[in-house]
Amino acid sequence: MSEKREQSITDFLSTFDIDLESSDIKRTPERVSNLYADLFASIGEPVPKLSSFDSEDDDIVIIEDLKFHSICVHHLVPFFGSIDIAYRPNKKAAGFGGFNRVIHFVSKKPQLQERLTNELGDIIEEAIAPKGLWIRCRARQLCVELRQGSDATYSTITARGEFTDASVQADLIKLLGKK
Ligand SMILES: [Zn+2]
Repeated sequence: MSEKREQSITDFLSTFDIDLESSDIKRTPERVSNLYADLFASIGEPVPKLSSFDSEDDDIVIIEDLKFHSICVHHLVPFFGSIDIAYRPNKKAAGFGGFNRVIHFVSKKPQLQERLTNELGDIIEEAIAPKGLWIRCRARQLCVELRQGSDATYSTITARGEFTDASVQADLIKLLGKK
């Protein structure tokens, strides 16, 4: 499999006027192949279950600034940023450590920012069915930056249950600070 990948990268590069025998680039197909094998590590993997525990507490829980890196499915270059999650438990709370594993899973494949945000919402809903769930993903999109030089931050939000309410969402955004 890796041989086939390396050959395809060589074929691709050979369509440009690049000296593929130079010492700089000789091992590039192997490096790129290994890199993308890591970046696409969650393809074919089972959806991880978010660990949870019983809780009678239904105060809002906020987890801020979980970093992620993913790969744009349209251009195969990175988009990356941070994710904020707020939820109100419904008899079940999530272990804090589990979120990174779930984010890793939804990031390590060719992806769209909107879909990543929604897939994360689905996994959390499935695990703890909170009364309200709100996820904001903020990212820089290198496919835009590399071509246009713009450095905008793009936000995608999914809101579920009682957090679909517009005034609740406005309060959450205020709570999350101005970073
Ligand atoms: Zn793109």
